[in-house]
Amino acid sequence: MKLDISYMRYMTADDFKVLQAVEQGSKNHEVVPTTLIHQLSGMRSMSGTNRSISDLAKLKLIAKLRNAKYDGYRLTYNGIDYLALHSMLNRDTVYSIGGSIGVGKESDIYKVSDKNGVEKVMKIHRLGRTSFHTVRNNRDYLKKISKNGVNWMVLSRLAANKEYQFITMLYAKGFNVPEPFDNSRHIIIMELIKGFPMRRLRKHKNLPQLYNNLMKFIVKLGCSGLIHCDFNEFNIMIKDEDEIDPNDPEEVGFVVIDFPQSISIQHKDAEYYFKRDVDCIRRFFKKKLKYEPKDDPSMLDTDGFGEGYRYAYPDFHRDIERTDNLDELVQASGYSKKHPGDRDLEDAMEDMRNTEETDEDHIEKEEEVEGKEESSDGDDYYYSESEEEESDDGYNSQDEENERIIEALS
Ligand code: ADP
Ligand code: MG
Repeated sequence: MKLDISYMRYMTADDFKVLQAVEQGSKNHEVVPTTLIHQLSGMRSMSGTNRSISDLAKLKLIAKLRNAKYDGYRLTYNGIDYLALHSMLNRDTVYSIGGSIGVGKESDIYKVSDKNGVEKVMKIHRLGRTSFHTVRNNRDYLKKISKNGVNWMVLSRLAANKEYQFITMLYAKGFNVPEPFDNSRHIIIMELIKGFPMRRLRKHKNLPQLYNNLMKFIVKLGCSGLIHCDFNEFNIMIKDEDEIDPNDPEEVGFVVIDFPQSISIQHKDAEYYFKRDVDCIRRFFKKKLKYEPKDDPSMLDTDGFGEGYRYAYPDFHRDIERTDNLDELVQASGYSKKHPGDRDLEDAMEDMRNTEETDEDHIEKEEEVEGKEESSDGDDYYYSESEEEESDDGYNSQDEENERIIEALS
């Protein structure tokens, strides 16, 4: 879905009041009656409300709907984009919107700048959009949802809120995740990681150390109560060489992104997802980097974090000892039997967990990858940009994974 904010500057304060009223009314009404829009907007004259309604409908920020009893309006995705951006522009966390960086599995990613010109990333959650990958996976929950009339906009907002909570908490605890800046509705603003997704990594100056640090991340996250559930080469950003601080003992050279589907270690499928996260990295290192890890007690425990790193393959039962309760603090999926969470959100997140990302899910803009054949010093990293190269060895993680999931679920 395209982000089109070209009309934002023509909108009046009244237009935003009316748009907000439609949003508010949508909480209880599928079709918000015009009279209710007027009441909620706090506008003085009905004719003013009607004028704004007509302008908003022309801009496709709201859509007219008829139901059996009355006519009214509902918010469109454009409308909620405008509302979220308007809030963030007012809060000064966003000043200008740049180009698209890419299209993720269930999101659109843009570069934005704040008023000091600092570039940041804007992630717009777009759950339930029908695109090639959702069709390809013939998702069960799409069927379920069209039956129950689930509100994708609400789910996108909940997913964004969850992700924002996860990274806020993790960043505060010193995990290498992007610094979070703002969240409004289905959009989050975070630090722009200068680097590239690990799927393009072909050479690294210290593969054992990188592998080890990735495993350390998984184990440390687990001990804090969480499992990422999509820990793979698409969601690990390898930092550019010149972004790495050689004097920082905590520096690992990568940043982990994409958290909405993360779960608690108390989740009923925790062990399965933990192992899957470990296996994804293992498989990537083996197939693409030709590296097979070995247990090595000497090099692994560099930060005194305890057990777990001297093993090549972390194990849920052996290595996860709770040291923190982040899952409870953010109410991660499965954190408590008493609080099963929003059913529709749980279904959507479960589907997200079970739909592994592939290269097709990542449509990156040309300018983002141009001229990046090698890193600044041209030696430590090597990038692969070619999509053919990714698939010509017959390695298809999607199929393999789907098979395993079907097996595990049946
Ligand atoms: P999805 O859930 O749709 O997979 P992600 O959060 O993984 O969304 O983002 C999709 C892609 O956008 C990533 O693979 C990465 O290339 C890019 N991206 C996302 N967040 C950042 C960030 N903070 N800095 C740099 N690139 C990012
Ligand atoms: Mg991703």
